[in-house]
Amino acid sequence: MFKLRLNYLIIFLTLSLIVSCNKSSNKSVAISEEQLIQKALDIHNRVLTLDTHADTPLRMIQPGFDMSERHDPRETGSKVDYPRMIEGGLDAIFFAAFVAQDIRDDDGHSRAKNLCLQMIDSIVTSAERNSDLVGLALNPEDAYSLESEGKRAIYIGIENGYPVGNDLSNIDLFFERGVRYITLVHSSNNDLADSATDPNGSEHGGLSDFGSEVVKEMNRLGIMVDVSHGNDSLFYDAISLSKAPIIASHSNARAITNHDRNMSDEMLKLIARNGGVVQLTMLADYLREVPPNVERDSAIAALRANMKQFDEMTQEEQRSARNAYQELNIKYPTPAATVEHVADHIDHIIKVAGIDHVGIGCDFDGGGGIEGVFDASEVMNITIELVKRGYNENQIEKIWGGNLIRVFKEVQAVAKKIQAQNI
Ligand SMILES: [Zn+2]
Repeated sequence: MFKLRLNYLIIFLTLSLIVSCNKSSNKSVAISEEQLIQKALDIHNRVLTLDTHADTPLRMIQPGFDMSERHDPRETGSKVDYPRMIEGGLDAIFFAAFVAQDIRDDDGHSRAKNLCLQMIDSIVTSAERNSDLVGLALNPEDAYSLESEGKRAIYIGIENGYPVGNDLSNIDLFFERGVRYITLVHSSNNDLADSATDPNGSEHGGLSDFGSEVVKEMNRLGIMVDVSHGNDSLFYDAISLSKAPIIASHSNARAITNHDRNMSDEMLKLIARNGGVVQLTMLADYLREVPPNVERDSAIAALRANMKQFDEMTQEEQRSARNAYQELNIKYPTPAATVEHVADHIDHIIKVAGIDHVGIGCDFDGGGGIEGVFDASEVMNITIELVKRGYNENQIEKIWGGNLIRVFKEVQAVAKKIQAQNI
């Protein structure tokens, strides 16, 4: 199915190029472009392609949502299902059990933990039901063995440490359920750490005392420490405390797009020294800057003021919210974020940190999706752009999964050492 669709893509791109090149009477360029795209698609097919961040479990827990069905992204908003992973040649993915930040008391923590476990169950159940297409993956090597069986690897992460509550033993529980990274914080501060986007600013000066214990426990068990969504102090605290390399599962380069969610050059250099990895995300606001537009900003603020949190909406409410945003986008158009922007960020991170410290974490079903990489079926366009920019197969292999797998292995090796010392 993947090959069939690629053939259609090649025919379409070739025809488009021939038409455009005939206009300038330069057929030799058409041939080389065609070869370049074929070369990119062949590389895409050969290397392990791993996406470290998708919020798809939010959909998996909805009654009737079937991962083995192909969904129309424009109609449903859904960006990932197994048929589209196959079409896009996406071999492995981390599904993040995401729990939005809420009240930080015992009841809140207990609700968050239950919801988190429900999402983890939904990932496991979906993988078991579709064992002809996918397999649950727990270790780095699993991605390669499942790929060789023609199946996609499904890893589990947690986005937001809120479900950990104040109970360190939950880390072990989550590990036993298959969780292999935890994003310490989300859009507001929690009991573990400070967020980059909390309107009240820093609360703990980075990691809290409990958050530090959480990082040590993650190191001991072999769970990757994810600093995406954290404020800068959290990044510096986590990278100096962690005994294993850290990850940013979905963040971009601040020098290219000035956003608090993105990583400064100083951070990128530290990630390189730490041996960690920054996974590029397909979130438009983190990929390109939009010229200020007061009218648009106030229209969005007015819309948001009357809206519930997206994850608290019914499906019908989500649909009408999407329509309302679409109307605003038509009324106040912004420059599209494209795959060229993605490659600009990759170029920059490589310039600052090196080829071994960048990867891909699209954030599909969590706001990710841009022109050319709108959903999982289009991720091969990243590879095409990288080949156009002169990246070779070895470099693309590192970007698309090799780097993350290296970090994952190192995190497990450090855990083994810590456990051996404690015996
Ligand atoms: Zn996120």
